[in-house]
Amino acid sequence: MQTGYQGRDMSEAERRRRATARTRRRRRILRNRIIFAVGCLAVLALAGFGVFKLVKFVQGKGDGDPKPPASTSQPASTPASAAGTGVSTGEPASEPAADPQGEDWLLTLVNNNVPLPEGWSIETEVAEESNQKELAAVAAQAYRQMKQAAAAEGIDLLLCSGYRTVEYQENLFSQQKQKWLDKGYSEEDAYNEAKKVVAVPGYSEHNSGLAADIVTPKHQNLDDAFGDTDAAKWMFEHAPEYGFILRYPENKQAITGIIYEPWHYRYVGVENAKAITASGKCLEEYLDQNV
Ligand SMILES: [Zn+2]
Repeated sequence: MQTGYQGRDMSEAERRRRATARTRRRRRILRNRIIFAVGCLAVLALAGFGVFKLVKFVQGKGDGDPKPPASTSQPASTPASAAGTGVSTGEPASEPAADPQGEDWLLTLVNNNVPLPEGWSIETEVAEESNQKELAAVAAQAYRQMKQAAAAEGIDLLLCSGYRTVEYQENLFSQQKQKWLDKGYSEEDAYNEAKKVVAVPGYSEHNSGLAADIVTPKHQNLDDAFGDTDAAKWMFEHAPEYGFILRYPENKQAITGIIYEPWHYRYVGVENAKAITASGKCLEEYLDQNV
């Protein structure tokens, strides 16, 4: 009977071992379920936050647009993901563009990373009779006043480039992109190759109608030397009185991403122009701190 006793004893131990194992397994399952539940909650919270941000972004983008935004044909990631915007908020680069526009469309930011808002529509008119160059109507009127005031002091101003349509640029761009697609490049690669040659439609301030390249008949080359002419010096001093700011100052190249352009002015309205000039900031810096 010893065997029987021993057998019962062993099975007793076995039962206890199995019971312990069962308990451990249950605890493990419970722990896994908790981890899974916490994980699910985290994913849901992240997804909810993402949707919230997206809604906020879309609403912000539409704010104050001259027209309701149309479909988003541009790859949205391109402007936002590009580094070195000079905007130090850490926000996606497209956000600062939306807000100022809601408050004051004349402060709309357009640069290498921030496109012209979707559905942008402005009234343009001829600003320079001699070459029929156009600007947004409000900027054209200001330019003519400035030109007249300069002439009264013996300074000849000449608008050599103003409003450029996005459509014109789109044609150029899509032709360029097609060349790469024909070579078997992917959409994205063809887009990036085209971008190296042609400015991406909508990313030039000239597309807004608020940018003006202003020279003088005796010096029409767009170069640094223009900055030494009497015309340039007169504008450095007086342009803000007519609502224009020097958009790409020499000491702001790292922030604007554009070389010094003593001929490129941007219409922002008289009050804004005076405030920005007095602040010593470029438009990117000014918007970053005042919006
Ligand atoms: Zn220009």
